Amino acid sequence: MNQTPPPINATKQMKKLMADHFLGLDRAKKQGSPKVAWCTSVGPAELLLAMGFEVYFPENHGALLGATRMATELIPAANAAGYSPDICSYLTSDVGAFLAGVTPLTKAYGIESVPKADVLAFNTNQCRDVQDWFDFYARHWKVPIVGVRTHRGVGEVKDCYVKDLAQQFKDMIPVLEQVSGNKFDIDRLRETVRLSKECTVRWRKVLEAAAQIPAPMTFFDYTIHMAPAVVLRGRQEAVDYYDLLLKEIEERIAAGISAVPGERIRLYWEGMPVWGRLRMLSELMSELKSAIVASTYCNSWIFEAFDEKEPFESMARAYTELFIVRDEDYKTRYIENWIKRFKIDGIIFHDAKTCPNNSNNRYALPQRLSRDLGVATVTINGDLNDLRCFSDEQAKTNIEALVEQILEQAA
Ligand code: SF4
Repeated sequence: MNQTPPPINATKQMKKLMADHFLGLDRAKKQGSPKVAWCTSVGPAELLLAMGFEVYFPENHGALLGATRMATELIPAANAAGYSPDICSYLTSDVGAFLAGVTPLTKAYGIESVPKADVLAFNTNQCRDVQDWFDFYARHWKVPIVGVRTHRGVGEVKDCYVKDLAQQFKDMIPVLEQVSGNKFDIDRLRETVRLSKECTVRWRKVLEAAAQIPAPMTFFDYTIHMAPAVVLRGRQEAVDYYDLLLKEIEERIAAGISAVPGERIRLYWEGMPVWGRLRMLSELMSELKSAIVASTYCNSWIFEAFDEKEPFESMARAYTELFIVRDEDYKTRYIENWIKRFKIDGIIFHDAKTCPNNSNNRYALPQRLSRDLGVATVTINGDLNDLRCFSDEQAKTNIEALVEQILEQAA
């Protein structure tokens, strides 16, 4: 089928959910109740929800600053305040926006500012930047900050790591009780963990739908439809949303709808999205009849280990099993598995200038995968939010060269 695919109808519902999410946070901030907790994107959301907080995810705000192309102009304000241009550009664009008194939430939802935190909760499983980012706000508002410090470069997820992290989660409780005014209730935690697991199961199915040839959705769709898994996991709304989306995906597969009409090449995206260039890259991929069918990034919100029977231990395990936390051998095997299952022809590695944690081209992973699987790879230089680090022309030339190489190999 070679015509432009119809839009995904579920998007309307997702937009409504996101509007409700941000308006709910704004209301909580104005009323002073429920209390607002800031949480890192792969942080202890289940615990915060169980304690009765409205939960806000600044990385989601960072992505919005990138996608609306506000970030590049705002980063210098954070640099002037002492935050290096070389560190996470989510951090610098978010802090820059705060110092400049602007937010994309104003245009989108009529919200004046991001919700002031009553408490900030981080997990360093992804990087140290999140802690420094939250420290800025904790100092500014003089509010408590709590967090867990996760082991990094992990091969096997050992029981001793799980035990340590489970205890770190428990150690947060007294502060969370004091700020929220609510007593910790294990049954409420079991429920949010159960709902997060339900969300994960569905989100995985959504991602796995792209194993279908042709793929009914691509990376660019996933970067939009991942939002409920990021900001609403632990809540029934996210579960219902993915049921709705899955039903539509099944219909698209049955109707033979291809996200990239005339799909002839299947690619894997390794690294952060370039938020301000998603449209450009999506159009380029369509022109090249190449579908990006899988990515490490969108897979990062699959948390297999959640188990309501052992809420603390399973949270500890789920948040440590993530790709970003693991060693090079694990990462190699992980990508190999997706490459084989999704019948992928090539990999685009995005070397994001300000996020070494999500730039996996730097320790010979492309070379290992190329040698072991015969898969073509290319590295494009760029950034998640700082568009001064990204060249449309260079990215285009490199991706076109990758596609040519794949076509030549197949000829
Ligand atoms: S993982 Fe990268 S993009 Fe995410 S917060 Fe850390 S440095 Fe920033």
